[in-house]
Amino acid sequence: MASPEIEALTSALARLPGFGPRSARRAVLHLVKKREAALAPLRSALMAVEERLSTCSICGNVDTSDPCAICADPRRDARALCVVEDVSDLWALERSRLFPGRFHVLGGRLSALEGVRPDDLAIDSLIRRIDQGGIDEVVLAMNATLEGQTTAHYLAERLERFPIRLTQLAHGLPVGGELDYLDEGTLAQALRARRPVG
Ligand code: ZN
Repeated sequence: MASPEIEALTSALARLPGFGPRSARRAVLHLVKKREAALAPLRSALMAVEERLSTCSICGNVDTSDPCAICADPRRDARALCVVEDVSDLWALERSRLFPGRFHVLGGRLSALEGVRPDDLAIDSLIRRIDQGGIDEVVLAMNATLEGQTTAHYLAERLERFPIRLTQLAHGLPVGGELDYLDEGTLAQALRARRPVG
């Protein structure tokens, strides 16, 4: 039997995406064996995240400042807004360095299966941002999954009444493809070849 401390850390890790009980236990054993090399840096990284990171009140990005560095950057094109499902998608697009505008993070995708409804996503705040004016183009950068595309269709309907150019990523995206897993070239291509919705 492992100690209660080991059990507590193992079960905390096992709840993270990408971990199961086995891989969590292996990670914990590694941390115990490599206290200096692995445990100490992990502890300080976790503390820094807990103390300094917050969610941007404008776009939903995670950063050390609110508004985040992207929202606060006057060199970004305020007329172009890219809507993504999750912060990981925003970061993937930032790595491609191709989108000059700002972002809006929905915080998920519509899902009948998981009971995710429009009210559960940051859709009202998106509409408020567009309603304030000054935005010419909205890019719907949902994942090429069934739920991502359902979300894009729903948003397209909600945004129909605004005088904006509404585009979505070109579907050179592999079916079922999630932005976070795409190489930067493919993602950049999908963004460059974006097309009008509908
Ligand atoms: Zn922001």
